[in-house]
Amino acid sequence: MNLNRTLRHLRGVPAAVTAEVFSYDPDQSDPPERVRYMTLSEAKALDCNMCGQCCGSAEVDVPGEPLRAYTFGPIEQQQWARLNGGAPLIIPLTRTGRPRAWRESDGEAATAPPFRCEALSHCDDGTTRCGLWQTRRPAPCDAFPVKAKHYPADVRAGAYVLLNTKYQRLCTWVDVLVCPDDSVLLDWRRADGTLRRRLSPDRRAFVGEVFREAYRDAFQIGGMLTTRDWRALRKAEAAWRQTSRAPK
Ligand code: SF4
Ligand code: SF4
Repeated sequence: MNLNRTLRHLRGVPAAVTAEVFSYDPDQSDPPERVRYMTLSEAKALDCNMCGQCCGSAEVDVPGEPLRAYTFGPIEQQQWARLNGGAPLIIPLTRTGRPRAWRESDGEAATAPPFRCEALSHCDDGTTRCGLWQTRRPAPCDAFPVKAKHYPADVRAGAYVLLNTKYQRLCTWVDVLVCPDDSVLLDWRRADGTLRRRLSPDRRAFVGEVFREAYRDAFQIGGMLTTRDWRALRKAEAAWRQTSRAPK
């Protein structure tokens, strides 16, 4: 399996292709072609390429998309100053990218602002470094993008998880759908984790259904699916499992 994608490879991919997920419409679209399907263990085994796109809103701006759309999530009032010698570590930004003082709404997920991190530095070769890598970092940094504590239980319960890398077009884990270990989708992929091109229309439609639900979960469109909902979809999948290795 060659599931990893190097930073050099990703930088060479045209933005129009990599940003396919931005135009995805769960009511109408097929899953983006570049989605990779993998187990949680496979995803965890990949290497961070140090692109730094998870470490600042300006790092992930996509041409043609609203600027500074990516947030850190809720920023606590102390701004993790204890990890940065007493000075604020995660700095809220205005939409145009100017640093500003913390305000109460920054602590809410729904109103989290764009941000800059004081620990991020840029190297000449285009990669970045986290100054806190060897010590303690804010919890969201350790969870992103594949180590959220609830993922193992979710996947064991039958859920498919679309990793939250929509904005990080250079991320190793961009466009990854984490699948339960016994998912038939894993049998229908190529060595790079993407779906086989010559998949029968009914199998392709099933993948579309799975991706649609995972996308809705990831972006909280119409509420999260419950474990029971995922079990119902997985029941339908059981029929596919019988024949998934038969050539089509
Ligand atoms: S603390 Fe490190 S990992 Fe977290 S946002 Fe800053 S540079 Fe990135
Ligand atoms: S966006 Fe992904 S590959 Fe880039 S630094 Fe963050 S975790 Fe690593």
